[in-house]
Amino acid sequence: CGVFGVVGVTDAANFVALGLHALQHRGQEAGGIVSYQEDSGFTSARRFGYVRDNFTKASLMETLPGALSIGHVRYSTAGSKGATQIRDVQPFFGEFSVGGTAIAHNGNITNADALRRELIDRGSIFQSSSDSECIIHLMARSLQRTIPEKMKDALRRVEGAFSVVAMTRTKLIGVRDPLGVRPLMLGKVADGWALSSETCAFDIIGAEFVREVAPGEMVVITEDGVESFRPFEAQQPRFCIFEHVYFSRPDSILGGRSVYETRHAIGVELAREAPVEADLVCPVPDSGTPAAIGYAAESGIPYGMGIIRNQYMGRTFIEPTEQIRNMGVRLKLNVNRALIEGKRVILVDDSVVRGTTSRKIKEMILDAGAREVHFRIASPPTAWPCFYGVDTPERSKLLAATMSEEEMRDHLGVDSLRFVSLDGLYRAVGEAKGRDASCPAYCDACFSGDYPVEPADMIEKGFEL
Ligand code: 5GP
Ligand code: SF4
Ligand code: MG
Repeated sequence: CGVFGVVGVTDAANFVALGLHALQHRGQEAGGIVSYQEDSGFTSARRFGYVRDNFTKASLMETLPGALSIGHVRYSTAGSKGATQIRDVQPFFGEFSVGGTAIAHNGNITNADALRRELIDRGSIFQSSSDSECIIHLMARSLQRTIPEKMKDALRRVEGAFSVVAMTRTKLIGVRDPLGVRPLMLGKVADGWALSSETCAFDIIGAEFVREVAPGEMVVITEDGVESFRPFEAQQPRFCIFEHVYFSRPDSILGGRSVYETRHAIGVELAREAPVEADLVCPVPDSGTPAAIGYAAESGIPYGMGIIRNQYMGRTFIEPTEQIRNMGVRLKLNVNRALIEGKRVILVDDSVVRGTTSRKIKEMILDAGAREVHFRIASPPTAWPCFYGVDTPERSKLLAATMSEEEMRDHLGVDSLRFVSLDGLYRAVGEAKGRDASCPAYCDACFSGDYPVEPADMIEKGFEL
């Protein structure tokens, strides 16, 4: 998901709509915006579909007046059951004796089932099936007298990954979990402030990127400035390494590094670790593009766009059913026959999850007359599900959970298949010595099975580490 908020600008909801549009890659199912102005109080709109199809309508934006506003773009993850209902679309809202609060959450709460049971037993009435709603109910039960204090109380009971953007009548609040699994950025816009999942959303509103909200930090922002708190016990941060590989936009800055540069560096690592003789390096667009450029630069093999992407399709992975995902690949990608015919082709993609994309693409490339197909993947084999907010399927559906690299190569029917090593990936994100197994600098659980937070709900459901 993507979260965004602004305080201290006229018609803040318009800024939020623009920010969410720039974060659309983080969630395409639905979006919501809440704003506050004294005469109208809190107003909100939640819609299915793209930001540009909903939150550009003047008639809708006029219902969201005020200088303080937050928003959310949604993509449903592991915890959610069935199709999204509009009541699952954030921001969520709670009215407390000390005033109202709207909150938008990116990540996944790993003890949400247990919390929900406990809260329901004690009288909470849940409106949605979302894990994020727990935060509102925990706040309601807190005996603290201010909203930031209630929120600290609530979030100390929550486990897992959370980057939260919230608002009261006067304050914009941002919080990151102690491991800092999901990103959250602070920006300055005109006389006001902004919070965003990624820096690319600051560019669109002409905001200046100030700094990251630190892992375990809470910022409370008013028109007068930013206050910082540390409500949690300090821990070694474990930012999601897959944000660098795939999830974030390449024009964003993460950990002080351009995501594009990092992906380019992964391609360079991959070319060093897994060279092969070939005539052409092709990206699987768009997610494989920067790594393919890096691979071509390091190997000296020409780069070309052997696969053309239809820009009007979203991310195929995010489509929930198998059938749509299967069709999705062809709706989205087509082979550029003129470039491919008769060539030995290296295809670079960011990851192999179920193998759906790679299988289809291999068929399309061979149909177009390629002589050889070599897959090079810009992440290690995805062998474990993510419980922190990225929608990977259950373990049995992950190709790498049940097959070795050779078996995957044969299953996909390609001439060769190689993944970047975990150390190579760490070098590419700036850890010169690779992964320090005694104290890893990132979350890499989907590759290593080393979960930095025990996924309590999943273990209860029988998941074995
Ligand atoms: P597969 O087709 O193997 O199931 O998925 C791989 C494709 O989906 C890749 O092209 C990649 O760009 C995209 N993808 C890989 N991992 C993820 C993920 O965890 N979440 C999302 N949303 N997309 C992914
Ligand atoms: Fe990111 Fe993978 Fe960790 Fe999930 S398991 S937070 S995708 S590194
Ligand atoms: Mg892709």
